[in-house]
Amino acid sequence: MTLPPLVAPAPELTVDEIRRYSRHLIIPDVGVEGQKRLKNAKVLCVGAGGLGSPALMYLAAAGVGTLGVIDFDVVDESNLQRQVIHGQDDIGRPKVESARDAVARINPYVNFRVHNTSLTRDNVMEIFADYDLIVDGTDNFATRYMVNDACVLLGKPYVWGSIYRFDGQASVFWAEHGPCYRCLYPEPPPPGMVPSCAEGGVLGVLCASIGSIQVTEAIKLITGIGEPLVGRVMIYDALEMTYRSIKVRKDPACPLCGENPTITELIDYEEFCGVISDEAAEAARDSTITATELKEWMDTGKDFLLVDVREPAEYEIVRIPGSVLIPKGEILSGEALSRLPQDRQIVLHCKSGARSAEALAALKAAGFRDAVHVQGGVLAWVNQVDPSLPTY
Ligand code: ZN
Repeated sequence: MTLPPLVAPAPELTVDEIRRYSRHLIIPDVGVEGQKRLKNAKVLCVGAGGLGSPALMYLAAAGVGTLGVIDFDVVDESNLQRQVIHGQDDIGRPKVESARDAVARINPYVNFRVHNTSLTRDNVMEIFADYDLIVDGTDNFATRYMVNDACVLLGKPYVWGSIYRFDGQASVFWAEHGPCYRCLYPEPPPPGMVPSCAEGGVLGVLCASIGSIQVTEAIKLITGIGEPLVGRVMIYDALEMTYRSIKVRKDPACPLCGENPTITELIDYEEFCGVISDEAAEAARDSTITATELKEWMDTGKDFLLVDVREPAEYEIVRIPGSVLIPKGEILSGEALSRLPQDRQIVLHCKSGARSAEALAALKAAGFRDAVHVQGGVLAWVNQVDPSLPTY
């Protein structure tokens, strides 16, 4: 599938620009016309980290006229192994400022826009609206789904990339012409199940491999050349040194871009992805049971106290038999600790497993060493054990 150019050409290139971009201009498929499209293009990089670093540098060098970056973080020493847009002297500086200086050194003709903030449900639509194309270099699922949803709702294409250890993936999601990220991954993984690069590590140079695919796709979309990665996911294995692409179809039942969309505005992505703190993920690592295991514990008469850490209104809607309600806040404040038995194992659950993981971290810190929580919460209980109960 070929697609028309995303961006109209700028009126002209200056003499300096013709000199600078001459190696592009003599490629027939790019030419002066393609370079003028790059000059007129507005591209936003979400994140100035592992993928954002090579993406920003090559987008700037390629002559993308307006380049934006959004990041709220500061440069840490542990970033430098892969985030090559930052240097030793930048440690402690906002990443967007470090990136701005690096881009200015690479190409002074780039109009660089800095968004020194975190991307949220309240600002994402307004920020994205100003750009033709988004390059997603985020490392967490909540932001990833938010980027996808905002792009679909705004009708914009975006280039997605993901890295872990020796493996990387990239694709172009553009609901008008192919699937979106939700068509590929309808549900986020359970919180704490997929380790981040901070937990599992990443080979630094992998960022260059995937970041360069993202920039290549951005240039192809802007200038309308080649076969874009729409409807395909590129999978790179650095150890095997293989690239393979798999076809991904638009899901007619996709709640966002399918035939009968049920998602028509942005949602609460932290809630959707069950985002939990590092402490909660650590506490849950070896202390998580499934809803099916909980049922087995009940059936075999195991002695434990099942504590529901949701709010009273939720407890009214649906509850697991035998559970007692102690809202998470009372556990985190320490207020409820004296009411908990020291001589019985405690099993925590909530709606989806995020709040119970936070409460679990607090209980472990208070000395309840054998406490566990239920993965997926009451929703998993309904799904796996008792589908006759309501969900919400
Ligand atoms: Zn979709």
